Amino acid sequence: MPYPLSELAPTPAPNALPRHVYVHVPFCRRRCTYCDFAIAVRRSVPVAAFIDSLAHEIDLRYPDRAPRAIDTLYFGGGTPSLLGGDGVARLLDRLRARFRFDDGAEVTLEANPDDVSPESARAWRAAGINRLSIGAQSFDARVLAWMHRTHDAAQIARAVWAARAAGIENLSLDLIFALPSSLGRDWRDDVHRALDLEPAHLSLYGLTIEPATPLARWRDRQLMHEAPDDVYERDFLLADETLAAAGFEHYEVSNYARPGSRARHNSSYWRHLAYDGFGPSAHSFDTLRRRWNARELAAWSRRVAAGGDPVEDHEVLTGDNRNTERIYLGLRTNHGVEIAPPALAADHEMLDRWVAAGWAMREGSRLRLTPRGWLRLDTLATDLTALSSHS
Ligand code: SF4
Repeated sequence: MPYPLSELAPTPAPNALPRHVYVHVPFCRRRCTYCDFAIAVRRSVPVAAFIDSLAHEIDLRYPDRAPRAIDTLYFGGGTPSLLGGDGVARLLDRLRARFRFDDGAEVTLEANPDDVSPESARAWRAAGINRLSIGAQSFDARVLAWMHRTHDAAQIARAVWAARAAGIENLSLDLIFALPSSLGRDWRDDVHRALDLEPAHLSLYGLTIEPATPLARWRDRQLMHEAPDDVYERDFLLADETLAAAGFEHYEVSNYARPGSRARHNSSYWRHLAYDGFGPSAHSFDTLRRRWNARELAAWSRRVAAGGDPVEDHEVLTGDNRNTERIYLGLRTNHGVEIAPPALAADHEMLDRWVAAGWAMREGSRLRLTPRGWLRLDTLATDLTALSSHS
């Protein structure tokens, strides 16, 4: 008998217009030791040329030129804050010709602390930025130097104060945990220092060593050793307990929010909704098909300038692909997945074992993972997917 997991979000027709837009701004001052994102290291950012290329790509994608209504806009990177106050304002001006922002639309800018000054924050707020995601990563000077970050701990606090003084209240901080023990990093202290700044939202990521990064080279030469799994687990659970006690909701495996402050843009990914992406390496998804742009800035700009589609490749999701993605995405969040028929959720040996182990909870026909379950997310999602296709 098939084991249908009901939809986390209705599947719209593939030509449904996305209401969530991502813009990838690839520029960085230098590459952090752990980073394998699509970036372009530049001393000086070619702001005007980049904005022109983006506007051109949007025109190519929407040849009818009709403004699209959107609910969220996210500037990610790279380091979008390197565009500066004036650059972000000019970019938003151009985007407003193509997008009609809903009342209360969420407009997020990723920022490095050293780019957030009282002047830039005021310019961003005046231009329409109402959410700032600040890449703090740590408050420990030694750790920041090891990561090759361009800022120090004092600049994180100054960035938060400047943003707040400018009227940007919806602030998120990123931190990285599970660092090599040789750094002597005090994770508890970092979490508390982040809390002292009273952010509305926190994103906490375990360090992963990606190929072709400086960290991978250091590891291969035995110059550093990755944190073992038990350090990852200890840090993850410490953050979960500390932030729950401080009133945060752990609503996605890597994300915590004060009530009412969940990241709406990223939530659209986890809900499997359609989104459009622009800029090098940006992905787009229409609920049936995913496409992604050329990764490198030069290749993306060249294709756009030639009037061609900068898409690098695409995939069409089968029904099985969509089911697998929905299970994985649903289990990432504290919304979980709906299991049908409900009797199966209430009475299934494998799910009973998960609940008994403290990895999952059942609420009627919904199944959701606990923080201890999130530590095994990939395995549990794979097992649930297998059950879904074989039952
Ligand atoms: S600032 Fe962000 S995108 Fe740029 S290199 Fe560092 S981690 Fe990567």
